[in-house]
Amino acid sequence: MLLGTPCLLIKRVIQQQTEFSMQKTKPTLILSQAAFARAQQLMPGGVNSPARAFGAVGGTPIFVDRAEGAYLFDIDGNRYLDYIGSWGPMILGHRHPAVLAALKHALEHGTSYGAPTEAESELAERIIDAVASVEKVRLVNSGTEATMSAIRLARGYTGRDVLIKFAGNYHGHVDSLLVSAGSAAATLGVPSSPGVTQGTTQDTIVLEYNDVAALEKTFAARGAEIAGVIFEPVVGNMGVVRPSEAFCETLQRLTRKHGALLICDEVMTGFRVAFAGAQSLLGLEPDITTLGKIVGGGLPVGAYGGRADVMDHILPAGEVFQAGTLSGNPLATAAGCATLKLLKDDPPYGKLETLSAQLEDGLREAAESAEISHSLARVGSMITLFFHDTAVDNWSAASQCNTDLYARYFWGMMDRGIYLPCSQYEALFVSAAHTAEDIEQTVAAAQETLNDIAPGSAGG
Ligand SMILES: *Cc1c(COP(=O)(O)O)cnc(C)c1O
Repeated sequence: MLLGTPCLLIKRVIQQQTEFSMQKTKPTLILSQAAFARAQQLMPGGVNSPARAFGAVGGTPIFVDRAEGAYLFDIDGNRYLDYIGSWGPMILGHRHPAVLAALKHALEHGTSYGAPTEAESELAERIIDAVASVEKVRLVNSGTEATMSAIRLARGYTGRDVLIKFAGNYHGHVDSLLVSAGSAAATLGVPSSPGVTQGTTQDTIVLEYNDVAALEKTFAARGAEIAGVIFEPVVGNMGVVRPSEAFCETLQRLTRKHGALLICDEVMTGFRVAFAGAQSLLGLEPDITTLGKIVGGGLPVGAYGGRADVMDHILPAGEVFQAGTLSGNPLATAAGCATLKLLKDDPPYGKLETLSAQLEDGLREAAESAEISHSLARVGSMITLFFHDTAVDNWSAASQCNTDLYARYFWGMMDRGIYLPCSQYEALFVSAAHTAEDIEQTVAAAQETLNDIAPGSAGG
């Protein structure tokens, strides 16, 4: 529309200016501002997924031009160290040569057939080999599709209706999972979005994460009605929150005892915190596992898998309906296969652990020396710096965080070329493309930023 040639001219000028001043001066966001204004005329809120709109931190989201390794480049020519990695998938960094080569190869053959391909079996096999509890798998197009299908399967398999989920756990925008609760008590689901009916959520029970007593009480009262429990084995979607050992043990024991299915939502943690998933770290044996993000290597893929006798209830082996025109798409499976192959043949998890521990330690020291109330949570390459003075182990605690301070931290880091989650309630991700120098630079930026925003400082 209005963004033809004039913008390209400005862009060139800005690129010339930024080439030698990169990282030294605050990024200017002139072109991103114009692009956002245009996008807001065309799409609700200017984005195709709300987390991108910077609603929780204010200001203009950067519009991305391209990415390489650990870096994002916006349309104004600014470069950022990327700790989002497309919200999880880019564990190998952007434009990994092996993933690009696999995509180019797939592209030469065709982009979609609606008929079986061998690449689908390869991706299925790679998932089954990696995740111990998965014996059969169905490929879909997103994490949301995976969780939606998994809960349908749990209900179809058990012939029961009721589902348990936990406050602050996100499982995609599935109607019956868009429910939250404010208290630690067992609460009948109240829809958290207009358009989700009371009828849809009345069979969803929301409990507080890590609340063993609430689980015991709910199963004691309604065990025979419960089809399944869906949970994030390590929560990323209220910031990083770990499950207690007792919580994991109780989930496993009560679902088994009452014939309910345990659905481990590893859309974020799968192939992220460990090659075999968070379940391998926690000693869990879920009946169904949902995957997404990394399994698509940056293309749209989701998957759900589990015990063969459960999975065989899905059409056409069984009667639980689930289908998809583009499921197992050749480009998406190629990127997924290439990514999982690299993660298996040349595992980056040792390196990710070292870099992430370095970042965690650096952030802790920076927050301590700036005298900012905080707690840090890390599992593998997922990290959250909470602006909250005690450890966060459920949504009640997470919701007490100082989100205004987080917003100032976010923009301080952006000014220094570090792209962090635009919300307190998202994990940051370290990728295999990050280096020790990148982490050092990030810690230095965090020290400056936290000093600036500390209560009582000149800037605070
Ligand atoms: C991202 C995410 C989803 C949803 O996946 P989409 O691909 O965005 O639909 C589901 N569960 C968890 C744990 C996630 O992190």
